[in-house]
Amino acid sequence: MELISGLSFQTLFDVSPDAMLLSDESGLIVLANPAALTLFRYTKEDMCKLKVEALMPVRHREYHKHYRKAYIHKPEARSMSNGRALIALRSDGQELTLDISLTPLKTNEQLCTLAIFYPTDRRRVAEEAYRASEERLKLATKAADLAIFDFDSNRNVLHWDEDMRLLWGAESTDSISNKRFSTVIHPEDRKARQSALDNAIDPKGNGEYNSEYRVINPSDGSEQWVSAVGRMHFEDGHATRLVGVARNITRQKVFEDKLRKQRNENEILFKEQVAAQTISAIAHEINQPLTAISAYSEVALRAMKVGGIYPDNLKRALEGCVHQAQRAGNSLHELLSFLNKSNLVREVFDLNRTVKEALTIAKDDGYGGFYPELQLEKKMPNVIGNKTQVQKVIVNLIRNAVEAMQGIGIDDSKVMITVQTHKSINLAHLLVKDNGPGLDVETQKHIFEPFFTTKPTGIGMGLSISRALIEANGGELWFEPNATKGATFHFTLPFAT
Ligand code: ADP
Repeated sequence: MELISGLSFQTLFDVSPDAMLLSDESGLIVLANPAALTLFRYTKEDMCKLKVEALMPVRHREYHKHYRKAYIHKPEARSMSNGRALIALRSDGQELTLDISLTPLKTNEQLCTLAIFYPTDRRRVAEEAYRASEERLKLATKAADLAIFDFDSNRNVLHWDEDMRLLWGAESTDSISNKRFSTVIHPEDRKARQSALDNAIDPKGNGEYNSEYRVINPSDGSEQWVSAVGRMHFEDGHATRLVGVARNITRQKVFEDKLRKQRNENEILFKEQVAAQTISAIAHEINQPLTAISAYSEVALRAMKVGGIYPDNLKRALEGCVHQAQRAGNSLHELLSFLNKSNLVREVFDLNRTVKEALTIAKDDGYGGFYPELQLEKKMPNVIGNKTQVQKVIVNLIRNAVEAMQGIGIDDSKVMITVQTHKSINLAHLLVKDNGPGLDVETQKHIFEPFFTTKPTGIGMGLSISRALIEANGGELWFEPNATKGATFHFTLPFAT
């Protein structure tokens, strides 16, 4: 009390930065503070001779007199925000728009009125700027589909805007306790959201808040995914306020979920395809030896039935069976090695000799009805790769050539096999050329696809496996139509040195 005992009304009146006037019941100005003298541009002496109407344009004076009398009759405090804008007149004739607050003051003798003036323009500009910035923020958040939240971590209370409340489908109050807020979060997501909040609150952290969780609308039980991002503010090392935005990401989550399911389905489909291809490849590999075993066995059985068993013939048939069974076993072994590429055995070998061996195998397989024509480059350097696989590819190409020619009943079926150096790229180059029907443009597009076949009993895996084998050995396999008739298949292989 001692501190303010020296303060008088006059002191407060004089030091106020707002313009103040005290007028009596007749409207005479009895006191004016320095701020009022500056605002209206009067000296103290001049101003205190005036009636308040003198501070208004002539056109408002008559009306104001009535207003003043009514006010004296029923005096009441009227705050600035309640007030109307007033047009005031400066001593130099300039008009000012001011807000005014009125306070009736009862003195011993009569009722005085304290008027405080505030330049309206300044306040209005500030208000308008604030309104415009709020409007802009609202538009921006609306455009981005964002809701705003403001978490007071001292009081554990969350202030939220209307969009945020809509997102929650919950209370229509401006704020809500953090505990109540947590109850609408999906139980499975509460822990993660709380730990995101704890991280943001931790003064040792960077204050960032980032969390995705589901909210359950209390009115209809529907579920929405929300993504919330914010930043914690600290004062003296204590978390005080977390301000951020939240967005409904349900559609995005549903889409992601659909994609994930689709990916899983595709993966299953792919695995099924791989399984089907592997089975077909196995079938392709053992089909030939099994046919041969069956043929040898039939020969042996027939011989036993008719009696007169010739041990040499029987021995040959049984040896044939053993050889073909071993071949089937080797093929399976090679196939498994190919599927598990790390086991691929690479060796240095003579491609010309491999071609001759392949011709023998093709003949053994029953594809002997053709005239082979060999053009083998002399002193051909050795190649490097898996010899059994390369041999398999050559046999397959010969078999395809023979089948194509047999298919159209060509008598002089000729298969020309060329081995040469591919000069421009320094690779071994092998060509298998036939004089069969060749391939139409549509067929050419598909021949390397698994399961593509134009043969009634074909499997359609030969060329796709052959290409994969050559590529695994560092080469390439392709097809070119012949100038006249027939087809030519090419492949390359790297030289050993
Ligand atoms: P398959 O021999 O089981 O049909 P391939 O993958 O070896 O499987 O061959 C696929 C298809 O390519 C064949 O069905 C055939 O239409 C075509 N084709 C392959 N080689 C030749 C060729 N030399 N001449 C004509 N068509 C061929």
